[in-house]
Amino acid sequence: MNSRELQPRILLFTAKLGYQTRAFDEAAKKLGVELVFVTDRCHQLEDPWHDSAVPVRFEAPEEAAYVVMEEQSGRRVDGVLALGDRPTLAAAYAARGLGIPHNHPASVEACRSKFRLREVFRDAGLPTPWFRSVPLQAIPEPALMGIAYPCVLKPISLSASQGVVRVNNREEFLAAASRLKRLLESAEIRATREPNLDRMIVEEYLPGREVAVEGLLTGGELRVLAIFDKPDPLEGPYFEETIYVTPSRCAEREQELIKKSFAEATRALGLTQGPVHGEFRLNERGVWPIEIAARPIGGLCARALRFQVEDEGEPIGLEELLLRHVLNLSGRDAPRETAASGVLMIPVPTSGILEKVDGADEARAVAGVTELEITARWHDYIAAWPEGSSYLGFLFAGGETPAEVENALREGHAKLNFKLTPRLPVEHPVTGKV
Ligand code: ADP
Repeated sequence: MNSRELQPRILLFTAKLGYQTRAFDEAAKKLGVELVFVTDRCHQLEDPWHDSAVPVRFEAPEEAAYVVMEEQSGRRVDGVLALGDRPTLAAAYAARGLGIPHNHPASVEACRSKFRLREVFRDAGLPTPWFRSVPLQAIPEPALMGIAYPCVLKPISLSASQGVVRVNNREEFLAAASRLKRLLESAEIRATREPNLDRMIVEEYLPGREVAVEGLLTGGELRVLAIFDKPDPLEGPYFEETIYVTPSRCAEREQELIKKSFAEATRALGLTQGPVHGEFRLNERGVWPIEIAARPIGGLCARALRFQVEDEGEPIGLEELLLRHVLNLSGRDAPRETAASGVLMIPVPTSGILEKVDGADEARAVAGVTELEITARWHDYIAAWPEGSSYLGFLFAGGETPAEVENALREGHAKLNFKLTPRLPVEHPVTGKV
């Protein structure tokens, strides 16, 4: 056996190549782990990943699993991880085929459909809003649907709150449904080949505060890594994220209820292994699971989480914790560092072409601000919600208390000024339509 075969190998399923894959790459190097990327973005790969990456199509998850199994046959594979929503199902099928402990594909598939998720929660007796799956091809008359207002219209399989709209009456319902139909029929969305692009889910609007929770499953046991408060009200009509701060300022009792709800929701779904991310609403009627995803917190936000391994110096990042966990290495149980930490996903004030940002240095200079990354590309069009799904960038802060962190993020954000110019309408050369 040569030394390469002694090196642990992890398959990392990812649709995006960027900050988080780089963070995994660094953590893998540190731990002496070989990382094999499984991606539909092979054309974007730079060396040294190019040689070992496995090209797949995530929209055909079983076929993707087959490709991976063929490719990896006879090779050592110690674990499977998936980043982002799209690759989770292919990863689950591949792990199954390779005999690696992972979530059952049906559990992961349920997380990918907002409709199936609600059915699972309702059938398990978890607090669930009323919900309906509604066709978009010919939008039905809302007055005949037996629904109540306010309610929320959502695409069934998109993420990042894209296309999610609160409506308060019939007129708003009709306008939002047409807008959602247009979004789901756009070339960009159709290119994802997601299922259910011809339907939406309509459900009861749940008032209340919201938290996001990061967890890690081992043989069906959930460990909560962090509860993030979302201190900005999320009352719609659109639901782009803004501030996440941990530790939570919810009362101890509420935090216990959130953890209980998270554990019940993962159990109802049958999720057993690896990272899970959940969103919950809290009101006087209880804790409501809004969404559970079988993946870690998205992209750059993971940087708000660091874990202190006993007897080791610098805290480690979430990526390293996940690698240690999947390989059953020491340090996988490391708790989050004690300091407060937070991230602001910088919202897009208005759709347009990003020309300029002022105040970046001033924002970085705010006490408590630790990092600012503008991730939107210069001179590219960026859409505001509900059509949008990516942020202008991310601002991070750390401090003694969650309040300090929140204030630093608000102050930092106030220094930033984005210049977005509207895109000129382009006439179709044949139809003349704009
Ligand atoms: P996505 O997977 O696109 O993020 P979610 O179902 O998680 O879609 O919804 C995105 C956000 O929209 C939630 O985090 C929440 O703020 C809001 N939202 C979704 N459903 C409801 C609801 N029934 N009541 C109130 N707010 C909701």
